[in-house]
Amino acid sequence: MVLDDLGSSLRGTLDDLRGKSRISEEDVEDVVREIQRSLLQADVDVGLVQELSDNIETRALEEEPPGGTTPRDWVLRIVYEELVDLVGESTDIPLEDQTIMLAGLYGSGKTTTAAKMAWWFSTKGLRPAIIQTDTDRPGAYDQSKQMAENAEVDFYGDPDEDDPVAIAERGLEETSDADVRIVDTAGRDGLNEELIEQIERIGAAVNPDRNLLVIDAAMGQSAKDQAQEFEESIGIDGVAITKLDGTAKGGGALAAVDQTDSTIAFLGTGETVKDIERFEPSGFISRLLGMGDLKQLTERVERAMHETQDEEEGDWDPEDMLEGQFTLNDMRKQMEAMNNMGPLDQVLDMIPGLGGGLMDQLPDDAMDVTQERMRDFEVVMDSMTEEELENPRVVGQSRTERIAKGSGKPEERVRELLQQHRQMEQMLKQFQGMGDGDMERMMQQMQGGGGGPGGGGGGGGGMGGLGGGGGGPFGD
Ligand code: GDP
Ligand code: MG
Repeated sequence: MVLDDLGSSLRGTLDDLRGKSRISEEDVEDVVREIQRSLLQADVDVGLVQELSDNIETRALEEEPPGGTTPRDWVLRIVYEELVDLVGESTDIPLEDQTIMLAGLYGSGKTTTAAKMAWWFSTKGLRPAIIQTDTDRPGAYDQSKQMAENAEVDFYGDPDEDDPVAIAERGLEETSDADVRIVDTAGRDGLNEELIEQIERIGAAVNPDRNLLVIDAAMGQSAKDQAQEFEESIGIDGVAITKLDGTAKGGGALAAVDQTDSTIAFLGTGETVKDIERFEPSGFISRLLGMGDLKQLTERVERAMHETQDEEEGDWDPEDMLEGQFTLNDMRKQMEAMNNMGPLDQVLDMIPGLGGGLMDQLPDDAMDVTQERMRDFEVVMDSMTEEELENPRVVGQSRTERIAKGSGKPEERVRELLQQHRQMEQMLKQFQGMGDGDMERMMQQMQGGGGGPGGGGGGGGGMGGLGGGGGGPFGD
């Protein structure tokens, strides 16, 4: 296949940079030319490809690679960053009560995507419902009802009603028990005023929290105009690209995303309700470039990025954490950062004044965030709503059940996460009130690996409640 060849020739071009100590203009041009070829073949808009190429060229030639980074890794990093920038992050789809309306041309895959999304939400422990408002196409009702059955989700439609707005209004009432309502709409062969006017009226009736535009991966460059029209009439918050199981790479949809200032939410990869993926930039980029996988590329880039991050002291700022609330979102960031530094107890052991005795006073499992539990916790957190992540106190028994079901982890794990969070929060409260300079010293110690248990700081007892008595070496 031509596209596969493109992927490997890009890889080859990048490999040609191996061992070079400086990168010439021609080197960069070679890389950029390969990327252009891949992207244009994948239907990416010419203007977007040009913009990307310019950015890569400018950055590769003008920016100084961080020390210790080879020119090849540096170019890889720029290419990857610019590609991620081009395709964007995944559309934010909070796991909470909401109404989503789907728009798109006839045959783009709206009805199928509605059922797929409903299935996806059900795997997250939410109760979805499909509202079918397509009164134009004979068979739309039956098709949609059947797919809702396959997805095992609630459904509302009315084959005898010919006013889509009436169906939409009634549907909202009838599905009031559901958490997520997905409103499917009719399409036309092409865009016309009647379609736009109809979807505007449905939108006014259901007042959706977000509108997704459904685009066939084979759509190509015309996706742009279509996106423009829908954007002007109802506003587009995200795009679902369907039929990516075919030969089309979905590059056309990027123009739609660009045009509507939105992002990609979901990818459809087949005809059954389970053939849906949340959009994820690096996998999509692999597909666009026709590379089997980007693993080799991203691993190198990541290594290069970590090297720089170490220099910049990472993007996790412990000072932020010590100010105000310690949420589950903070805990996740902290877990990620700790992952790079080493286990929490060892890190704390390095802090003068906090080592030794302190550790013995904490409950045994307070620090026991093993890799495996961390991974479980991540999965559990993926099934929590933003509200729950920001304020874990709201999670009671029924939410625990929902989160456990959504994450496929035992309820016990959810409780463990909450308990771990409470313990960390407790501990961090003890740190609060330390002066800025102290905090910096502490971080330097942690990162320099200096110190050693109990070394240098002047004995334990620094952690208020836990150590018994406030003050201590870092007290104000
Ligand atoms: P609508 O007119 O926008 O509602 O489109 P439909 O949901 O009815 O889909 C039109 C056709 O495309 C149907 O035959 C679907 O089975 C098919 N289809 C939708 N999504 C996908 C997909 O991701 N992969 C494949 N292979 N077929 C799909
Ligand atoms: Mg349909």
